[in-house]
Amino acid sequence: MDFKLTEEQEMIKKSAREFAETVIAPKVAAMEETDEMPEEILKGLGEYGFLGLTIPTEYGGNGLGHVARMIVLEEIGRVSAAVAMTLQVLALGIEPIVQFGTEEQKNKYLPGLAKGELFSTVAVTEASGGSDPTAAQTRAHKEGDEWVINGRKVFITNAHLADVATVFARTADEPKPSFSCFLLEKGMEGFRPGRKEHKVGFKGCDTGDLIMENCRVPESQMLGKEGDGLKIALKAISEVGRPGMTGCALGILAASLEAAVKFANERILYGKPISKLQAIQFKIANMYTDLEAARLLAWRAAALKDRGERCDVEMAMAKVFSSEAAVRAANAAVEIHGGYGCMMEYPTQRYLRDASLLAPSAGTSDIMRIVIARAALG
Ligand SMILES: Cc1cc2nc3c(=O)[nH]c(=O)nc-3n(C[C@H](O)[C@H](O)[C@H](O)COP(=O)(O)OP(=O)(O)OC[C@H]3O[C@@H](n4cnc5c(N)ncnc54)[C@H](O)[C@@H]3O)c2cc1C
Repeated sequence: MDFKLTEEQEMIKKSAREFAETVIAPKVAAMEETDEMPEEILKGLGEYGFLGLTIPTEYGGNGLGHVARMIVLEEIGRVSAAVAMTLQVLALGIEPIVQFGTEEQKNKYLPGLAKGELFSTVAVTEASGGSDPTAAQTRAHKEGDEWVINGRKVFITNAHLADVATVFARTADEPKPSFSCFLLEKGMEGFRPGRKEHKVGFKGCDTGDLIMENCRVPESQMLGKEGDGLKIALKAISEVGRPGMTGCALGILAASLEAAVKFANERILYGKPISKLQAIQFKIANMYTDLEAARLLAWRAAALKDRGERCDVEMAMAKVFSSEAAVRAANAAVEIHGGYGCMMEYPTQRYLRDASLLAPSAGTSDIMRIVIARAALG
C-alpha cells in the first residue's frame, strides 16, 4: 500500500493551494458580505483545470480523477468551503453525463463543462423529503415525441448558476413508481430557477429552487433509459456528491487546525503561550488525528472510485466521519480562541457555520449510518 501522491497529484495540489491563496482568499470577506460567487473565481476553476478532473480527456477534461479531486477540494475548502461546495456540485452535475450520457450528449456538454464555459448541477431533492427520493412529486409525461415536466426542486446547489441540470422526475406510478433523469438547459421554456436560499454558511455558494412548468423536451434530453432515474441519481450522489462533501469537510478540518495552532502559539496567558496548556494540546491532538483519519478514509474511497470498484459504503464512512469531525474541529477552534472565537473578524465562526452544512448535503448522517450498517450487517 502506497500513500504517496503521484507527481501529477502533487502538482494539482500545489496549483489548488496557489489558486486558493491568491484568487479566492482576497474575496472571502466580500463573499461573506454579498453571498455572491465572484466571476473571477468561477473563471479560474476552469482555467486551472479543476472542472475537468473527472472528465475523460477525449471530452476535453484532464481525467486526473477522484483522488486528485479530493486533494483539490481540501485545498480550496481550506480557504473557502463555499467555493469547494460550488466546485463539488459542478462535478456532481458532470458525473451522470459521463456515466450515462449518449455520445451526442457527452460531446454537447462535457467540453464546455471542462472549460468552465458551462456549469452544471443535479436536482433530486424536493419539499417531500431529500432522504426519500421516491417521494418526489416532479412528474414527466409523454406527449407525442416530447416529455412534459412539471414540479419544483429545492435546496439545489448552483440552481441559478447552472446551464445544464440533471433533473430527476417521476415517469410512472404503476405497477410501481418509476423515475427518469432529464438534461434541462437554462433558458428552456418552462424551466427556471426560483427562490434563492439564505444559508447560515457556504456564503457565496448558490442554493435555490428549480421550477419546471410545462417544460417540454425532446426524447434526446433524457439521460439514460426511461426508468433509470433512481440508479443514475443514487450513483452520482453516493460516488461523487458524498465524497465532494468529504473534500469540503477536509478543508474545514485543515483550516480549523491551522487557526487553532496559530492562536494557541500566539496567545499568552500566565506568562506563556496557551499551547503549553495540556487541555489545549489535547484538543489540538484530537483535531490533528481527526484530519488524518478523515483524509485516509477519503483517499481510500476515492482510489476505489478511480479504479472503477464499488465504493458506496467507503464513501458513506468518509462522509459521516469527516463531516462530524469538521464540526468537532471547528467547535474546538472556536473554544481555543476564547472570546475571540465569537468575533466576526476571526475566521473560526465561519468554519463552524460552514461545517454545520456538511451533514445534510448529499445525504444526512443518519442515511450514511443506514448505508454503513446495511454493509456491516450483511
Ligand atoms: C447546502 C445544501 C446543498 C444541497 N444541494 C443539493 C443539490 O445540489 N441537489 C439536490 O438534489 N439536493 C441538495 N441538497 C438537499 C439534500 O440532499 C437534502 O437536504 C438531504 O438529502 C436531506 O433531505 P431533507 O433536507 O429533506 O431532510 P429529511 O429527509 O426530511 O430528513 C429530516 C431528518 O430525518 C432523518 N431521517 C430521514 N430518514 C431517516 C431514516 N430512514 N432513519 C433515520 N433518520 C432519518 C434525517 O437524517 C434528518 O435528520 C442540499 C442541501 C443542503 C443543505
